[in-house]
Amino acid sequence: MSTPLKVAVIGGGITGLTAAYTLKKAGTSVRLFEGGAKVGGPVQSEREGDWLVEAGPNSIQENSASLTALISELGLNSSRSAARPEAKNRYIFRNGKPQAAPASPPGLFSSSLFSMGAKLRIFRELLQRPRIRPADVSLADFVRSHFGDELVEYGLNPFVSGVYAGDPAQLSARHSFPSLWKIERETGSIIRGQIKAAREKRAAGESSGPPAIISFREGLGMLPAKLAEEIGPDDIGLNAPIKSLIPGERWGVVWNRDGKTQVEEFDRVLLALPAKPLAELTIGSLGERPLAQLANITYPAVSSLFLGYKRDQVAHPLDGFGVLMPQAEHRQVLGVLFSSSLFEGRAPAGHVGLTVMMGGIHRADLGQADEQTLLRVAQRELSEILGVTGDPVFRRLHSWPRAIPQYNLGYGQYLRAIEACETAHSGLLIGGHVRDGISLTNCIAAGQKLAERALS
Ligand SMILES: Cc1cc2nc3c(=O)[nH]c(=O)nc-3n(C[C@H](O)[C@H](O)[C@H](O)COP(=O)(O)OP(=O)(O)OC[C@H]3O[C@@H](n4cnc5c(N)ncnc54)[C@H](O)[C@@H]3O)c2cc1C
Repeated sequence: MSTPLKVAVIGGGITGLTAAYTLKKAGTSVRLFEGGAKVGGPVQSEREGDWLVEAGPNSIQENSASLTALISELGLNSSRSAARPEAKNRYIFRNGKPQAAPASPPGLFSSSLFSMGAKLRIFRELLQRPRIRPADVSLADFVRSHFGDELVEYGLNPFVSGVYAGDPAQLSARHSFPSLWKIERETGSIIRGQIKAAREKRAAGESSGPPAIISFREGLGMLPAKLAEEIGPDDIGLNAPIKSLIPGERWGVVWNRDGKTQVEEFDRVLLALPAKPLAELTIGSLGERPLAQLANITYPAVSSLFLGYKRDQVAHPLDGFGVLMPQAEHRQVLGVLFSSSLFEGRAPAGHVGLTVMMGGIHRADLGQADEQTLLRVAQRELSEILGVTGDPVFRRLHSWPRAIPQYNLGYGQYLRAIEACETAHSGLLIGGHVRDGISLTNCIAAGQKLAERALS
């Protein structure tokens, strides 16, 4: 009888947790090594009385059957909380006020966000033919070639601030939005491609609308907590940063416990780490660092400041997901999430909670600033953007010095280094936000894929 496979998962963010859980469910022996004191990476939720604060991400797009199945398997269906209907309204700041972004093609005509010229340009996009580009281009150039300048400034730019805290002129079209790259090759027009994808989904009996935006009753933190519970505390090593691996027939994973070096052997090692620890990891007896170049991946800092107010301190109806800032408007913040409008149970009765995101690629200073500075900036901005008056009655700051990897032009070199490292080291598999996409949905899929590859 063959001995059961023994797998090490290194990194206890959502990718590593999903991988370890999937392997455990398949009957594999797993040990998860997490460098910090708790699992989940930035996915942490904090309750204080009737306030519920997200430290990092605020929502997941439930856009795959495997994610829906995972939530159900984990027994989280009854805790699942769908975004409130009004969260489908998205605001973009233009001409001194938040303006509703069009939610559908017919909504585009009545929208005051874009000029008539920009609207006609958007509809002309339907005529674009399939195109194979000889080389990657920036996301800004890609979108400009389809929809023109105004959509880049007032559509793409704020959207990219909200997702990557990044700069569309530096992001790679091919790597940051691979689905758009593929649509252009196959269909030509992005709009036609999306209509076609929706039609195909309908034909397959799936919902063709936008994916559900969800969280959980006690916040997104319930997801890593539940995954960790299912893996079991005996198979999770906390405060166990892994700095070196010894390749061989079986892999040696090296770590320190109580000042003593420990080595444990495994058949497979799955790496679900951010770029910096991947770059620093030595793989081999001579201290080789095959992923050293990943240290050059840009990760801007982001601060997330949650502020609670009495309802009557805020003039804006807060009837939406939040408001995003185009760079052309020269505001100090990346955007403001209307947290208590987005999901139930985020603020006490008669109060509202707002999450102000600051920092990102253009304002690294605010990504690292102290709480007093951020509070001053946020209050001034909130007063001008949403008509907020007076001091907050509650606040919590979470700062992410290395928040989100930028899939900038040239990102292919890092993906090739990852591939080469896997090819050179049988039994070593790498996945997560550095390789597979930055959204939680991408990272959960990456964890599932890592587990499947380990078992194949
Ligand atoms: C402020 C913020 C807001 C976001 N908002 C959203 C959102 O609303 N929706 C969304 O879908 N996505 C959002 N994201 C992105 C998403 O949260 C991340 O991309 C995702 O959580 C990354 O998961 P991961 O497991 O790949 O990596 P990580 O979560 O970074 O996990 C890696 C883990 O490895 C550990 N580690 C590091 N070094 C070592 C080592 N040497 N040995 C062992 N362990 C180590 C770390 O402590 C960490 O726990 C946001 C991210 C941030 C920072």
